[in-house]
Amino acid sequence: MDIAGQAINSSAYMRIGIDDTDSPAGMCTTYLGAVLAGRLSDSGMTVRDAILVRLNPNVIHKTRGNAAICLDVLGDPDTAFGMACDIVEELADFSCEDTNPGVVVSEADLPVEFYEKAVGDFCETDEAIALLAKAGARFRGYRNGRGLIGAAAAVASRFEDTTSEILVYRKPERWGSPRTVDRESLFLAERETYPHTWDTVDTENDVVVCVPHTPDPVLFGIRGVSEEWVLRARSMVCSEEPERERVFTTNQGTDAHLGKGSIGALEPGRSYLIRGTVSSVPVTRTGGHVSFMLSEGARSVRCMAYEPTKGFRDIIRMLRPGDELVVAGSYKEGSINLEKIRVISVISLSERKAPFCVSCQKRMTSAGTAKGYKCRICGAREQEPDLVRLPRNLKPGWYEVPPSARRHLAKPLCRGQPDLEKYGIA
Ligand code: ATP
Repeated sequence: MDIAGQAINSSAYMRIGIDDTDSPAGMCTTYLGAVLAGRLSDSGMTVRDAILVRLNPNVIHKTRGNAAICLDVLGDPDTAFGMACDIVEELADFSCEDTNPGVVVSEADLPVEFYEKAVGDFCETDEAIALLAKAGARFRGYRNGRGLIGAAAAVASRFEDTTSEILVYRKPERWGSPRTVDRESLFLAERETYPHTWDTVDTENDVVVCVPHTPDPVLFGIRGVSEEWVLRARSMVCSEEPERERVFTTNQGTDAHLGKGSIGALEPGRSYLIRGTVSSVPVTRTGGHVSFMLSEGARSVRCMAYEPTKGFRDIIRMLRPGDELVVAGSYKEGSINLEKIRVISVISLSERKAPFCVSCQKRMTSAGTAKGYKCRICGAREQEPDLVRLPRNLKPGWYEVPPSARRHLAKPLCRGQPDLEKYGIA
């Protein structure tokens, strides 16, 4: 059943939200946003901003990256609402049972708390409908209306920090076929514009990151600090001829999903920045996934660095019990899935070795149980072993997963480090 609400007409500033239009087989909500933005402009309205809003990455109903779209528009809300619904009916992938689009047009501000909940926690469709009705918004939820959650959250969003992404879309006749994007030009764009842009390629692992492999309309996307920088990088990329492109303001790369947390009080599906002490030697499990325990007093949580995090696992393998850390990641199935860590301090490690015989310049050997040590050459004896300090190659500082394993919301270290005071763990 479709869900609809209608508000009083006016011609003014509005925010338009859209979500849940795609499926694993195709389409992309950002594409609908880009097409709608073009049509609104063509009809004489002013599109002041196109906003790509990433929501809780742990939501099970997401197709890929849990993205929703918000357009900031000046124009006639009734006309805009009609155009947004038309575009959803024209382009959303209704062949997939789990496509439940939502369209919102609101002239009133929606409470930012709803966005904050949707990016860090879980929301219900009824909650979205209640706040839309209260705000007098126009809205339509198709099928079970779940897309209204993302559409309302996008409209409610106000970012503390923003980045930009230019999304370049393919001509419809090419959707589903292999993409033609010149690899070298992407590496050149990265070389010329990093750290003002990031995650175009993963230099360390020699892979292209910004070209998807899914059958959706996106040809490639370039992320960066500002419209100017993503446009500069984009101008260096050679590819098949695109159909359209659009720069979005986004909450990607801002850590907007991370909240305060403490070990023993973590809730599944939320993402945290937490502090603790390593309490087990990291182990590499089947598939190359590395895990260790992090503790705070008597409470512990498992931390995981999965195989796709590649070289990041080498850092994790260097941890030892007693090392102090801050870790960032989502709490899922009893583990924190690591996005980045800060090594606050490393414990000094030593090894018991048989003492050295100064006269013979050789190590002694055990003289038997509880009998100390004896030099086999000169017969000298010592009771206590030497404590030899072991080198720790792990330096205090921040470490992160490579671009190929980075989640959309995770802030790359090239943008700066998390403010630990904000999370109460400075
Ligand atoms: P794409 O990124 O390719 O557009 P997607 O990964 O965003 O796809 P959707 O098809 O939009 O996935 O599905 C996500 C669904 O989850 C939407 O219906 C959205 O309203 C809903 N949703 C988003 N955030 C939350 C949340 N915090 N709690 C509950 N539902 C949510």
